[in-house]
Amino acid sequence: MAEKYQKFRELTGEIFDLDAVVSVLGWDQQTYMPPGGAQVRAMHIATVSRLWHEKLTGDEYSAALEAAREETADLDPDSDEVRVVRYMQREVDKWIKVPSEWVNEFKRVTTLAHQAWEEARAQDDFAHFQPLLEEIVKLRRQYVEYFAPYDHPYDPLLNYFEPGMKTSEVKSVFDELRPRQVELVQEITERGLPVDDAVLHQDFEESKQWDFGVEVIKALGYDFERGRQDKAAHPFTTSFGIGDVRITTRFDPKYLGTALFGTIHEGGHAMYGQGMSPSLDRTNLIDGASYGIHESQSRMMENLVGRSRPFWIAFYPRLQEYFPSQLGELDLETFYRAINKVKPSLIRVEADEATYNLHIMLRFEIEIALAENKISVADLPEVWNSKMQEYLGLTPPNDAKGVLQDVHWSSGYIGYFATYSLGNLMASQFWAKMEEDIPDLTNQIERAQFAEMLSWLRENIHQHGAKFEPMELLQRVTGNTLSVEPYLRYLRAKYEDIYKLA
Ligand code: ZN
Repeated sequence: MAEKYQKFRELTGEIFDLDAVVSVLGWDQQTYMPPGGAQVRAMHIATVSRLWHEKLTGDEYSAALEAAREETADLDPDSDEVRVVRYMQREVDKWIKVPSEWVNEFKRVTTLAHQAWEEARAQDDFAHFQPLLEEIVKLRRQYVEYFAPYDHPYDPLLNYFEPGMKTSEVKSVFDELRPRQVELVQEITERGLPVDDAVLHQDFEESKQWDFGVEVIKALGYDFERGRQDKAAHPFTTSFGIGDVRITTRFDPKYLGTALFGTIHEGGHAMYGQGMSPSLDRTNLIDGASYGIHESQSRMMENLVGRSRPFWIAFYPRLQEYFPSQLGELDLETFYRAINKVKPSLIRVEADEATYNLHIMLRFEIEIALAENKISVADLPEVWNSKMQEYLGLTPPNDAKGVLQDVHWSSGYIGYFATYSLGNLMASQFWAKMEEDIPDLTNQIERAQFAEMLSWLRENIHQHGAKFEPMELLQRVTGNTLSVEPYLRYLRAKYEDIYKLA
C-alpha cells in the first residue's frame, strides 16, 4: 500500500532539495559572499533553479503525481497525503505554464540585481540599479502573460505570494482600512498627548544590541540548535528544512529600534518555520501557507508581543542592565510610549503600527501601475516621492531613504508588499482567538513565559506549514473570514491608552 505515494514523495523530496540548495546559495550571497562572487553566483542559482523547474514540470514527476493522486483518492481530505498531492498539483499547474528559460533568466538577473541594489542603496544612486530593475519588470510582465487570461495583470504577481487572492479583494480591504487608519493618525497627531522618543536615539553598542536581541528571541522560543543569526543589508529569514531555519538582522548604532524589532520580526518568521510538522519535511509544504500568513507570525511577535506593555514589564529591567547609562534612569512607561510613538516616517520597516499600512498602500499602488504598464522604472523615484507626500506628508531627502529602501524588487518580489498588511490583519484575528483560548496570556507575558503561547501557535498554525490555503487556515483557526475589525479595535485601544485620546 502507498507504494506510489512513496515514489511521489521521493521525487518531491528531490525537488525540495534543489529548492533548498538555491536558498543556501541565496543565504550565503546575502551574508558572507564577497562582492566579486556575484557574477558566478548568479550562474549557480540560475542553473540549479532551471534543474528544479525541469524536474517539477517533467513527465516523470507528472506521472508520479497522477499515480499518487489515484492511490490516495479515498483518504481523509485533510490528511497529509491528500494535501501534499493537492499542493504539488497546484505547483505543477502553475510552473508548467512558465518556460525553464524564463526561470533561468529570472534567477540570473535577480541575483545580479541584489548586488546592484545593495550598491545603489549604499551610494544613493538609483541609476546604478535602474537597468537591472528594468529587466526584472520586463521579466515579470512576461510572467504575467503566461497566466493570461486574468482579471487583472497584477493577479498573477499577487498570487505568487498570496495564493487565491485577487487584486480587487486587496483593493477593497485597503479601501476599508485607509480612511479609518488615516483618521486614527490624525486624531493622534492633533489631540494626542505628545510622546518623546529621543531616548531611543542614543549610542547603543552593537554587540550589546546583538546579545539582548538573542536573549529575547530565545525566550520567545527561537531554537538556536536549529537556526542561527547573521548580519545582512536587509533582514530576512530562510529555511532549508525544519532543522535549519536561519535569520538575519542589521544594526543602527544610534537607534535601538532597528535591530531590536527587526530581530523579533524575523524570529517570528523563523519560529513558524521551526514549528512545522516533521511529516511534511522535504516537501514544498515546509513553507508558510502564504506570505500573508508568514507576516502574521512575524508582525505578531514584533508588535502584539514585542511592542506591548506586558512584554516590557518582563524585559525592560534586562534592557536597562544592558544599557545602564542610556536607560538606567528612564521609567518603563516613558520607554513603552517611546517605542510606540506615532510619527509619519520615511522607512517602512521602522514605521509605527498606526502609519505602517500607509507605507504598504503606496507600494501596492506603484506595483499595480507597473503591472498595468502605466509607469516605467525611470519614473519610480518621482512617483515614490509624490506618493510619500500624499500618504505621509514627507519627501525623502534622497532615493536611499526613498525608492531604494526595500530589498524586494531586486529579488523580483513584485506583489509581496500587500502581504504585510494582510499579515497585520490576520495577526490581530489570530491573537483575539489566542486570548480567548489562553485567558492568562497577559500575565504569562509579563512573567516572560511564552511556552503556552508558542504551543498554541504550533498547534493551530505552525505545524500545518502550507497544508491549508491561507483563507482556509484563517477560517479553521478563528472561525472567521479576513476582517479589518479586530486589527482596528486593537490599534484604537492601544493608542487611546498611549495618547490619552478617550
Ligand atoms: Zn517579514
